[in-house]
Amino acid sequence: MPQENSDPRAAARKILDLEAATGFRDTAVTGGIEAFAARWGTDAVAIANGYAHSGRAARESAITRLRQELGLDASTPEPAAPDTLERVREAPGPAQAEQRPASAARANDASGLRMAVSDMKGVGPKRAELLARLGIATAEDLVHYLPRKLEDRGRFVPIGQLHADQDAAVRGTVAAVDQRRVGRGMTVVKAAIGDGTGFLYAVWFNQPWLAKQFRRGDEIDLYGHVEFRFRECQMSSPVWEPAGTGAEIGRLVPIYSTTEGLPDRLLRSLVRQSLEQLAGALRDVIPADTAAEHRLLTKADAISIIHAPASAAEFERARRTLAFEELFLLQVGLSLAPRDRAGVIHAGSGQLVNSFLAALPFSLTQAQQRALREIRSDLSRPLRMMRLLQGDVGSGKTLVAVVAALGAIEAGFQAALMAPTEILAEQHAANLARALEGLPVRTALLTSATSAKGALRKAIESGEIDLLIGTHALIQEAVTFRALGLVVIDEQHRFGVVQRSQIEEKGRDVDLLVMSATPIPRTIALTLYGEFDVSVLDEFPLGPKQTRTEWIAERERDLVYERVASFLAAGRRGYVVLPLIEESEKVDAKAAVQVSEELARRFGRDRVGLLHGRLSSADKAAVMEKFRSGDVHVLVSTTVVEVGVDVLDADFMVIEHADRFGLSQLHQLRGRIGRAGQDSTCFALADAKTEEARRRLTAFRDTSDGFVIAEEDLRIRGPGDLLGTHQHGFLSQLRAADLFADVDLMRRAQTAARDVRERGASAELLEAVDRRFGDVIRWLRV
Ligand code: ADP
Ligand code: MG
Repeated sequence: MPQENSDPRAAARKILDLEAATGFRDTAVTGGIEAFAARWGTDAVAIANGYAHSGRAARESAITRLRQELGLDASTPEPAAPDTLERVREAPGPAQAEQRPASAARANDASGLRMAVSDMKGVGPKRAELLARLGIATAEDLVHYLPRKLEDRGRFVPIGQLHADQDAAVRGTVAAVDQRRVGRGMTVVKAAIGDGTGFLYAVWFNQPWLAKQFRRGDEIDLYGHVEFRFRECQMSSPVWEPAGTGAEIGRLVPIYSTTEGLPDRLLRSLVRQSLEQLAGALRDVIPADTAAEHRLLTKADAISIIHAPASAAEFERARRTLAFEELFLLQVGLSLAPRDRAGVIHAGSGQLVNSFLAALPFSLTQAQQRALREIRSDLSRPLRMMRLLQGDVGSGKTLVAVVAALGAIEAGFQAALMAPTEILAEQHAANLARALEGLPVRTALLTSATSAKGALRKAIESGEIDLLIGTHALIQEAVTFRALGLVVIDEQHRFGVVQRSQIEEKGRDVDLLVMSATPIPRTIALTLYGEFDVSVLDEFPLGPKQTRTEWIAERERDLVYERVASFLAAGRRGYVVLPLIEESEKVDAKAAVQVSEELARRFGRDRVGLLHGRLSSADKAAVMEKFRSGDVHVLVSTTVVEVGVDVLDADFMVIEHADRFGLSQLHQLRGRIGRAGQDSTCFALADAKTEEARRRLTAFRDTSDGFVIAEEDLRIRGPGDLLGTHQHGFLSQLRAADLFADVDLMRRAQTAARDVRERGASAELLEAVDRRFGDVIRWLRV
């Protein structure tokens, strides 16, 4: 066995020579060739990796490559002395970067709950600002900032069993560390970690200080994403800590949503710090018997478990406790400020309704009959009707609304129907005038475009008008009703809660029927419309929808219009829809003009009509009429057709830039075609530039069920967006509750909240409600 002399390279040469001379039996050096290689950096480790278990040929080639790597081969230039490791060892080890939890509580209020995060150790002004972005200002906010998911870092995987593309925890011994420069100003720290089954290479970029944090022989734990690169098993920027620390690795680790500049592990350490200080200060707000009934944990236990669960089941139990608590607070809040439901009986003899129904050329669907029974029962009770009528486009909601209106009218009241767009209001007015022909019902239309408003106002005030149809103008204009008894709001999600209450105030205790073609996921319905009764139209009068949807890439746009040409040749009619892209109607109108010009050249000028927001009401009506009557075959339109346009014969639609629409909006658009149950085709023209767009378009193509679409939309966009800015997106303030999974919990919380209302809520509970949801509730109750 040769002695190592003072020149490490000379010694290495001797070792390798000896290994070759003795037939590559891994006997030339104590500890074996792999251990020897570890002294020479990570590349050497890589070469020697598995030497002990390799065959002769592989060993021979490894030794040759080691000679090259170590610069022992005459043919290779002298490399820089591989003494990086020696230098590292001499450097004093700086303290670790990670924050230690503050040892002493620095609470400045009795409970510590209100302590500002900026008073916490490790939080300067910059981090305080980043935390504020996450809605975290106090220690209390921190402990209520719940993990987004759990990562199982508890099982250590032997390095020899790692496979590519796996997230894994590994425990091993540092065999070598080095640091090098790559490119301009870039440094890479690379460590070889062995555990007897193989070597893993951890690499970190631009964190040179890391090289000084471990030494050969240190046992460490790592967690990261495994990749095989250059025939090495690698982890890029893994999390690590001294073996057995158990903070970041070796257990289930909660993962928090965070923001750039605020590492996840810092959040974890701050949460730990506040948990230590707040233990005991967290009070239960749910009455003890309710908590027992639902087998809830105490608040303090739930909070500490959710940040450091021993198992997924434990986490879920804690989450349910916290979800119940928040839904309970919300429901208590909503039930404490109930609307005054006392109302007026708005039902008459039934004569008007009956003669209307008798004159209908068709019979009502089962669903329509059911909804009407429910509505007429509401009208005949001295309570305010608050009913949501839900049904996909084409399910026949308008008819139900008309019958409801007639019920109020025959009892001597007036009714109003409010629609979100002028086109829709006009269409309703025309349809209703036709439908009510021969009946003693006077209708009128009021939009911002209406002329002779003065006379109309008088007629409304004197009660000459029975049924007023209109847009927001119904609220904005100074209209006074003689006796408004019923308000119908079409496409109610287009209006805000505030507008809803404004129109209601035009009468005394008016009955309210809101209609929506956008299905609302059940949990949201229970919350937002908790006090509403719901009627659902789940049948299509003209048969089920037969619309086929194709998603086509932009480069095949031309093929789509070839198909349109063949549709037109077969005498079919349809829409080309453009998204609103710019803020300005002018720019959008220009885009619409361009496309309609292109299609006019292609299909003939008189076959193509154009509808956009900049047209006068008269022009819009004229184009619509031409399309309806069949003079125009292709209607190019900005999204104004989205709601309500009702041309039964239309059976194809091209949606340009379909990636710019939301999923529910796409579904609404598609509802415009195949209205008579005939076969119809919808082309979504789009390149999905983002993952989100890809999900949206795929769901659009593959799903026709409105409820599934609405839930998927919610999943993709989150509740805030789905409900629109009008609805304030307050459901996104729920922290623990899951909008899909927790329907049962929501119901139970609602029941518990009603109990509390009957027994009377404690001052402490009220304060908790106010702190958690006060703003939301005040806003919803405008
Ligand atoms: P929605 O407003 O729900 O989208 P509409 O009320 O506009 O649907 O109805 C779609 C079409 O179906 C309209 O042309 C309407 O006249 C017609 N319709 C409604 N109810 C029936 C029915 N029971 N039988 C046949 N046609 C109906
Ligand atoms: Mg409608």
